Amino acid sequence: MDMIANFGSKVFDDKVMRQRLPKRVYDSLKHTNREGTPLDPAIAEVVAGSMKDWAVENGATHYTHWFQPMTNITAGKHDSFLTPAGDGSVILEFSGKSLVVGEPDASSFPNGGLRNTFEARGYTAWDPTSPAFIRDHTLYIPTAFCAYTGEALDMKTPLLRSMQALSTEALRVLRLFGNNTSHRVIPTVGAEQEYFLVDRKLYEQRLDLKICGRTLFGAKPPKGQELDDHYCGRIRLRVAEFMETLDQELWSLGVTAKTKHNEAAPAQHELAPVFESANIACDHNHLTMEMMRLTAKKLGLACLLHEKPFAGVNGSGKHNNWSLSTDDGLNLLDPGKTPWENVQFLTFLCAVITAVHDYSDLLRLSATSAGNDRRLGGYEAPPAIISVFLGEQLTHTLTDIACGKHVDVPATVSLQMGVETLPNLKRDDSDRNRTSPFAFTGNKFEFRMVGSSQSIALANVMLNTAVADVLHDYADRLAQSDDFDTELKAIISETVRDHSAVIFNGNNYTAEWVEEAKRRGLPNLANTVDAIEAMIDCKNINLFERTGVFSELECRSRYDIMLENYCKVVCIEASTMLEMAKRQIFPACIKYTGDTAASYNAMTAAGLSAAAVQNYLAELNELLAQIQANIIALEQAYSTAQGITAHKPHAAAMRDHVLPAMDALRTSCDKMETIMGCQYWPMPTYTDLLHRV
Ligand code: ADP
Ligand code: MG
Repeated sequence: MDMIANFGSKVFDDKVMRQRLPKRVYDSLKHTNREGTPLDPAIAEVVAGSMKDWAVENGATHYTHWFQPMTNITAGKHDSFLTPAGDGSVILEFSGKSLVVGEPDASSFPNGGLRNTFEARGYTAWDPTSPAFIRDHTLYIPTAFCAYTGEALDMKTPLLRSMQALSTEALRVLRLFGNNTSHRVIPTVGAEQEYFLVDRKLYEQRLDLKICGRTLFGAKPPKGQELDDHYCGRIRLRVAEFMETLDQELWSLGVTAKTKHNEAAPAQHELAPVFESANIACDHNHLTMEMMRLTAKKLGLACLLHEKPFAGVNGSGKHNNWSLSTDDGLNLLDPGKTPWENVQFLTFLCAVITAVHDYSDLLRLSATSAGNDRRLGGYEAPPAIISVFLGEQLTHTLTDIACGKHVDVPATVSLQMGVETLPNLKRDDSDRNRTSPFAFTGNKFEFRMVGSSQSIALANVMLNTAVADVLHDYADRLAQSDDFDTELKAIISETVRDHSAVIFNGNNYTAEWVEEAKRRGLPNLANTVDAIEAMIDCKNINLFERTGVFSELECRSRYDIMLENYCKVVCIEASTMLEMAKRQIFPACIKYTGDTAASYNAMTAAGLSAAAVQNYLAELNELLAQIQANIIALEQAYSTAQGITAHKPHAAAMRDHVLPAMDALRTSCDKMETIMGCQYWPMPTYTDLLHRV
């Protein structure tokens, strides 16, 4: 397989456009992409015709407006290019209008009360900044999705709005630094994706995996990840085949899948792409997740993207690497050789620190979900407290500048590795801190809180918006000041004075940090229901309105959608659990206990005392009673919670009553699993799932 020829072979990318579009049209489209200017409607017809011809030549029969409703997965209906010619024959047609707008039914997607079924109209609008591509004989056109009344109903619209706000404000600051060449500032994103692979036949035998994506039952296996023998270990053959097939699919779709390796838990793996513009990275992360599921299925595997598929085993996240780049290729978060001299870098760094401190609740919110609640804070992933890791050296540089100290340029430190033949490596400015939720890693920040199944859009919306807002203030201050240097120094000093509380270079997984963070006044929003409140906080609504990213109405509708979604997820999990407990586990336990009792009778009839069996039977019987009581308790908690109509108390009841009842039922069933004959247990165990690929 020729990697280079394969790469992007299914994408209507720059190369194809340059070949196929008239120069005037191509230039106009490029202008839109480069400068973020509105699309010239006159060119749509030409682009549509050219796209259709290219797609048909490459085997497409249909097209779809591909969009990202607030479900964390993508959607689109497929229309064929077929048009009756009027004489009984057909032609293939695709108009400019069909390219630019679509009209899906908006009331069928989460809309937080923005749309009723009697006013269902919604629009999808072509996003020319993300390239169209072909999948399954269909031309996919990336689009933004909004209501008839203009409110955003998707993840992409706010992302594009936040990118626009960020570009405007960052450019203002750059101009004040004397940069007159850049036209746009683009947030760049590389999302590292973690996932699990399990055998499909085993997966099919577990209702919880099929319906909820995670195991609701399962005793701890004898071997989990204690030996640390999986991380970056040898990739097993079936997994290697999966990774290779996936790479080829992704490359053909123009997704720059770069690194693949085994992760910490058995059966856990990771894929990292090369970074791109936030918008395209988000589209590509969706494609990556979809292709992972599909490829696994084709190869007799199942890909689990849930944040915590297995209790007691590392969960999966998504590391959102984020930086700022100018359109002419300058990384604004790259300190260059001398960070202490690079004031422009320090200015943008201060803006990020301030933004993360002031809007940590929004960042936390962006990584919240019922699934991620099970992962965060479990000493395997960052806690729910947002802090920034800078590393000792950068922290010192900042504080030295803030208190007016002369900053010495340290001599380059070399690491002596003690082996003559190895080269001396230049030591990184900071060691790696894998426990921080938001870490500076040399020339970018890595936000590690996002859940593996989530869209990365919201995390980037929050980051872009908060940073845009801080940069807006900086630009105002710097523009109004008579003395640029003094004002800059004041900005840096104030950042250190007012925002040092958010900087933490230590171990975030410790109980001491939780205490320390409380003293520093950093919020610790432990669960989704608490974290969602940030969406309707006055300070945050003001931020969104100021930056034009969300209207107040949109904030409130998203708040409702998130609460509703949380309730639905817990509701589905509780129902699945009840079904499995009542129809699979409980009957299996009865059968096993009955068979054991029959054996006991046979043994005593043969004149044996069978005291051990009698004790065992008593234990089984006691656990059976516990399981039954826990089933009843869960049913009660569930029906009480479902009776509450208002979103917030409903969600709180799910969290406070249903989840603990689910945990109790699980505990008794898991205990039963460990003492019951294995051939009686009605589903594959953790050992089967984790060690059989
Ligand atoms: P690390 O060693 O810190 O994990 P890598 O070079 O392996 O860094 O990159 C990890 C991820 O970060 C990759 O997806 C990569 O594309 C992304 N990345 C690197 N530089 C940037 C940047 N300037 N902006 C956004 N993402 C970046
Ligand atoms: Mg990383």
